[in-house]
Amino acid sequence: MKNPMDRKTEQKTEKEQNFFTFLSKRQKSILSKNGIESITQLFRHFPYRYENRGEIKKIKDLQEGEFALVKGKIIAVKGRKGFRKNISIVEGLITDESGNLHIIWFNQSWVENQLIAQKTYYFFGRISLFSTIRGVRLQLENPDFEEASQDEVMKIIPVYKKIGIFGSKSLREFIRKGLEQVEIDDFLPKEILRKEAFPELKEAFFKIHFPQDEKELQSVEDRTSPAVKRFVFEELFAFQLILLSEMKKRKTEEAKLIKKDPKIGETLRALLPFELTQAQRRVFREIVEDCSSGIPMCRLLQGDVGSGKTIIAFLSMLWAALDGFQAAFMAPTETLATQVYIRLREMAQKCGLETALIISSTKMSERKKILEKLKNGEIKLVVGTHSLFQEKVEYKNLNFVVIDEQHRFGVLQRDALFRKGENPHLLLMSATPIPRSLALTVFGDLDISVLDEMPPNRAKVLTAIRGESSREKVEKFLREQMDLKRQVLYVFPQIEENETFEAAAALHSFERFKKGPFKGYPIGLLHGRMVSKEKDEVMEKMRKREILLLVATTVVEVGIDLPQATVIVVENAERFGLSQLHQLRGRVGRGGEKGYCILITGSETSTNAENRLRVLTETDDGFRVAEEDLKLRGAGEVFGTRQWGESGFLFANPLRDLRMLELSRSWAQKIINRELLLKEIEREKLGKWLMEFYQKSYTFLRGG
Ligand code: ADP
Ligand code: MG
Repeated sequence: MKNPMDRKTEQKTEKEQNFFTFLSKRQKSILSKNGIESITQLFRHFPYRYENRGEIKKIKDLQEGEFALVKGKIIAVKGRKGFRKNISIVEGLITDESGNLHIIWFNQSWVENQLIAQKTYYFFGRISLFSTIRGVRLQLENPDFEEASQDEVMKIIPVYKKIGIFGSKSLREFIRKGLEQVEIDDFLPKEILRKEAFPELKEAFFKIHFPQDEKELQSVEDRTSPAVKRFVFEELFAFQLILLSEMKKRKTEEAKLIKKDPKIGETLRALLPFELTQAQRRVFREIVEDCSSGIPMCRLLQGDVGSGKTIIAFLSMLWAALDGFQAAFMAPTETLATQVYIRLREMAQKCGLETALIISSTKMSERKKILEKLKNGEIKLVVGTHSLFQEKVEYKNLNFVVIDEQHRFGVLQRDALFRKGENPHLLLMSATPIPRSLALTVFGDLDISVLDEMPPNRAKVLTAIRGESSREKVEKFLREQMDLKRQVLYVFPQIEENETFEAAAALHSFERFKKGPFKGYPIGLLHGRMVSKEKDEVMEKMRKREILLLVATTVVEVGIDLPQATVIVVENAERFGLSQLHQLRGRVGRGGEKGYCILITGSETSTNAENRLRVLTETDDGFRVAEEDLKLRGAGEVFGTRQWGESGFLFANPLRDLRMLELSRSWAQKIINRELLLKEIEREKLGKWLMEFYQKSYTFLRGG
């Protein structure tokens, strides 16, 4: 990889100049400790929501309980200690032409020095009732405030995620000042801006951070704003530039072939406890042909949950390993990686191959050993998340890579993979249908295989939606099933990425079940907070049928393979995506016995949400479910809370923004094929931008 240092240094000085003019040294150092090292990075810290403060209220019209925006002059403001020692209080009195209002702040003693008597401010906060000896009065609690020097008050306030100690309000000030003071040079070529009618970078930032009125806010939220479109375009455009240039490069490189060896074929067949389906055999043959031909394979394997993709991936990896190469399996989550590892290890052991797992809980000493053995080639098979392609991991001869559920991965992981300097055969796997045109756009040049046949012994799963009121009936049904010695998976949703909370909810129900509806039945608990050994024990009991009902958090969502469970209950099903639910129900009924999936909706579920779930009762075709999911997804979602570096995309969703994806592709193509000739300076700016976000320079942007 070429990474010219001179560019990097030049960029740095410019960054510093920009960044340091209007922030104090301390502020700057706090930001930079938190990964914000340039003013543009700060501008790219987009609000995750907006607060619409509405009209200014007259003090006399205020009502208890409402959030209100008030414009008032400070009559007095004073701090004191609270009755309880550890509380500090600042109190004030403000006035407008209609009346006076008390204000109170708890534990924000600094407020006292920020407010100046006789000056007018905007205050925004909750109106509460306060009892005094003389009766009750209204007061404004812990309001935000802003000096009323500007002619116009900001009615729409962007709300930001904290950065270090800086809360939303400080960040708003930094960003506002920055946008007012700093010149921003746009890196998108003029021609593109003009033809697509995109706003310049600075204007686009303004529109996202500070929508002027409700109409503008609306257009940001429903993504029709040209500013939003520009940012979506930008991301996809960068992606396409990288992808297309990688493809161009990759085409010129040779792949190492994996030998077709009948003896290896024999070994592989002996490992399988079942016959492959027709579809599986066809796909495996396609893979073998590709990898033994000398062209680097890039194949997308699509197939519904349970159609047997993973087995095909394993066979391919084992084939490569038996021919002396290394093979890696990249899973989207650590739980899934662990499950995959257990299954792969079982097969690999039978032909004397060592398998390794790299996840964050892998002990340092263990990890060191693994890295050593990957480097010297002793370990041929490895499973993990994107950590497999971090800087520190070196391979001796990596030649086959499986990327499972690839749509969850972004550009960066793919990029990291290429950066390893290897040119391995790639097998991408997805249970979500991706139209061919989209696949080409997202993955560049690839072939597609489809597993359109389910393994035998797969019984239909009957799906039903039940509300809170049917809970007892559901519990009775579960008891009946357990009396027949059938196993039940009882799943709780993930709440705001919060494992502790999730575990608590599951634990609570577990206790209730034990004492109440399932008293005397063998029930178990599985959640993300348990250590691996505990989890393994529970899984073992499940396998031995010593547990009939397993209460679990979404750790079972992916991966866990329990052929004998026949019933799955999903609590608060409305919180799941349709495809996710489809994956979950794919966990049951694999043993040939009829399966049941019961979706319990919370009491506050809207009819809308219930209708959304209905498609699951109507079809068990994963492709249809996924399509429905795509249509629905993105409705209320403005910008993900995702960050650069995680998925690669902040604004764009290639599945939803298909038109923009095509547009970005055609522009990227023009640049790479030099149909659009950029000025030297334009090329430089574009290159710098790609460098900043992808830490990589691109040859196609250099020189004439
Ligand atoms: P996917 O990765 O597509 O979800 P898996 O490869 O994990 O599917 O297979 C799902 C389950 O079906 C596994 O338990 C696997 O062992 C089993 N399986 C796969 N192929 C066959 C087959 N041809 N016959 C019987 N069972 C199979
Ligand atoms: Mg799978």
